[in-house]
Amino acid sequence: MKEACKKDFERISEYLDGELDDDICREIENHLRHCPECRKCVDSLRKSIELSKKAAEEEITPDMREHLRAALRDCFPSEQS
Ligand SMILES: [Zn+2]
Repeated sequence: MKEACKKDFERISEYLDGELDDDICREIENHLRHCPECRKCVDSLRKSIELSKKAAEEEITPDMREHLRAALRDCFPSEQS
């Protein structure tokens, strides 16, 4: 995982929830523009969020958020320097 990815890793799930401030969103979007790996990951996560929301017809639950984080971790295979 790249350093910049690590830095944004925890924030990406919040970003997907739409919970972050605009300036932080912009930072992450900027990262995504330059990082195909993260972009691919976020794209697929966003799709599963949309599906989950449709299924649940409500906001993202803490359970769902945990699931999201797990999915994010899968996108970034553990520590490899
Ligand atoms: Zn990245």
